Amino acid sequence: MPIVTPLTKLLGIRVPVVQGGMQWVGLPQLVAAVSNAGGLGILTALTQPSPEHLRLAIRETRQKTDKPFGVNITLLPTINPPDYEGYARVAVEEGVKIVETAGNSPSKLIAFLKSQGCIVIHKCTTIRHAKASERLGVDVISVDGFECAGHPGEDDIPGMTLLARAAQELKTPFIASGGIGDSRGFAAALALGAAGINMGTRFMATVESPIHQNIKETMVKSTEQDTVHIFRTLRNTARVYKNKISKEVVAIENRPGGAKFEDIRELVSGARGKMVYENGDPEYGIWSLGISVGVIKDIPTCEELVSRLESETEAIIENLSRMRVERAKL
Ligand code: NAD
Repeated sequence: MPIVTPLTKLLGIRVPVVQGGMQWVGLPQLVAAVSNAGGLGILTALTQPSPEHLRLAIRETRQKTDKPFGVNITLLPTINPPDYEGYARVAVEEGVKIVETAGNSPSKLIAFLKSQGCIVIHKCTTIRHAKASERLGVDVISVDGFECAGHPGEDDIPGMTLLARAAQELKTPFIASGGIGDSRGFAAALALGAAGINMGTRFMATVESPIHQNIKETMVKSTEQDTVHIFRTLRNTARVYKNKISKEVVAIENRPGGAKFEDIRELVSGARGKMVYENGDPEYGIWSLGISVGVIKDIPTCEELVSRLESETEAIIENLSRMRVERAKL
């Protein structure tokens, strides 16, 4: 029995699994593979050097899939300020119907996307922000727990409680993000009231993920202990792979007197982090990674991964309902 939720109906997808925006990873080959597998692939706008490059990436994705896919636009501090409006305009011009937004002060961007008839999935790390985005008219809220890769916000509420709170407070459908890498997490998210899941880290370790094989293998060998938070003292916290660079950043931040962004800029730059995915050296720079890396034990194709998530989650749901029947017999 397929897993039908408000998300599958709204987005026109078979399995309620979204591949969340990932800097340097959300490229056409991965996005198309996820969408072809029945989930929703998402292109990361800022991975493209300009809005016109995003236009080409959207066209390339369309050549690889005729299924729905989205574009992610993230509004967070950056070394070079991006042309957010330009990326949004190009996505709309190219007929993209689903946009994932994330980050700070999104109201202008969301108003523009809604005025153009887009379905907006907005990522939030607190109930306060989720309720504010509900007032802005977003269609789906991606509720992002503390376990997530990248930016978890500053409130540190893990998914188990954050999702239960979302179910209590939100009227808008929400999906569970952060910490989910297998069918157990998927079923738990549905039980907590989510209409689907968002996974980033798990999709990094797939055959179609456009990162170096050595990084995928490093992920398989890693455990849930292998991430660390940087930027805590700058209130731009990010969960990343624990390596010598991220440890050095934390040490600089914890120096007496603290650190300014300039003190760590060279170590943390995205351009350097991107090299990790190209040269396969996990120690070379900063790369985002979620705690769910602990449950990743293989490097499947997206088709294998999404099918497995679907069938195993269906089996878990069946087992849980059988538990009720068997309890009734006692
Ligand atoms: P970048 O090279 O501009 O910056 C590297 C890191 O430093 C980023 O985490 C950024 O947030 C942080 N940073 C930059 N200026 C800062 C400041 N003044 N104070 C505190 N922190 C600062 O980043 P990039 O790799 O080119 O990525 C572009 C943007 O996309 C960043 O905001 C990044 O956080 C964000 N991002 C998006 C995704 C996604 O899924 N869409 C994933 C990871 C990062």
